[in-house]
Amino acid sequence: MRSCPCGRRHTLLTEECVVAPDAEEQMKEYLTHKGWKNPLIVADDNTKKFAPRLTALFPAKLTAVDGHAHATEIWTSKVGETVAAERPDVLIACGSGSVHDITRYVAHERGLPFLSYPTAASVDGFVSGVAAMTWHGQKLTFPSSPPAASFANPAVFASAPARLTASGVGDVLGKYTSLFDWRVGQILTGEYLCEELVALESEAIGALVEAIGQRGAIGEEAYCEKVMNALQISGLAIQLSGNSRPASGAEHHMSHLWEMHRLNETNDGLHGEQVGVGLLAVARTYHKALADGLDYDKIAAIDPAKVMDRAALEPVFGSLTDGILRENLPDGTPASSSLTKIRLTADTDRALKEAEKSLPSAETIEALLRDAGAPTTCGEIGLDGSPAFLGQSLRYAPYVRDRLTLLKVLMAAERSAEA
Ligand SMILES: [Zn+2]
Ligand SMILES: [Zn+2]
Repeated sequence: MRSCPCGRRHTLLTEECVVAPDAEEQMKEYLTHKGWKNPLIVADDNTKKFAPRLTALFPAKLTAVDGHAHATEIWTSKVGETVAAERPDVLIACGSGSVHDITRYVAHERGLPFLSYPTAASVDGFVSGVAAMTWHGQKLTFPSSPPAASFANPAVFASAPARLTASGVGDVLGKYTSLFDWRVGQILTGEYLCEELVALESEAIGALVEAIGQRGAIGEEAYCEKVMNALQISGLAIQLSGNSRPASGAEHHMSHLWEMHRLNETNDGLHGEQVGVGLLAVARTYHKALADGLDYDKIAAIDPAKVMDRAALEPVFGSLTDGILRENLPDGTPASSSLTKIRLTADTDRALKEAEKSLPSAETIEALLRDAGAPTTCGEIGLDGSPAFLGQSLRYAPYVRDRLTLLKVLMAAERSAEA
């Protein structure tokens, strides 16, 4: 626990977050220090090859279900069975995002601690406290436990396919619009915002942008190490926040919408790739809207009942419409929508334009993504590349969460003004 100028106390449960060439040695020391003697390593087909780096230093069992890990009820029950049979005193997630989510879920379910051993710099969720799962086909996040400690070796995660590292870059750069949307929430609805956490996330972005600029000069391993450091800082900021507000705005809602397969049949984009594509589209939309001038009369006239009209949502969300309405209208009435909290003042426009200064131009964001080898268009991640599809994505993504974003405000103002 630490007190913060924002008035809240931020809790950090992860005791160590190591990115170093002797990460495995440090993990061994940590296990000894904790008195944990019977670890079970959780891996998948792609990542089990790294387990001997650990078992060479301390005794541990390994469970690696065939194939490529997916954070589903099938995988968690398989790993859960192994845990029941082997009775470990600690789990070790040896893999990327999905292996971590499976391990985190099972550890939480069984009341066991777990350690993180990331094998790719691909997402910012290694040290977070929520498990992102696909449960019976539906995308859900479960409250869960963060790792007791995380140990990452650059020689391991720098050997991952370059596409995974590029995806990690997309996830961190997505914080540009996450942070901007958080500020918009503060300006328009008086939402709580912690300047310390904004500074921490901004530090993660800054470290990453610097790494992209130095990539050619410092070499791939040092570059991947800097990407991993940025991911871990961002993950710790999420843990300190207690929710994903500092790290998830309209760009993540785009990614979630595509993963719900409502506008698209399928897509082969990784999480961070989708976030990067969403980021660019959202940043472009925000700068254009602010340059054209926001229509405050329309914003003042937002009608949540019209925005959350079942008849308009059902053609897109189908069987998920009930869940979408529950998310957006927590108590079932339009009065409970985050949109009803908007309060415009004489200072609103100035404050939004001031906040915009922290959001780089779409050209700058696009160049950063390209330099990192990350996709920038829907077409590159197996989605419809037409402007119409992107327009529909921007229009429906805000429904994925009740969370206020500028995209939600723009969409709701347009929809309320429609005949
Ligand atoms: Zn704070
Ligand atoms: Zn993310």
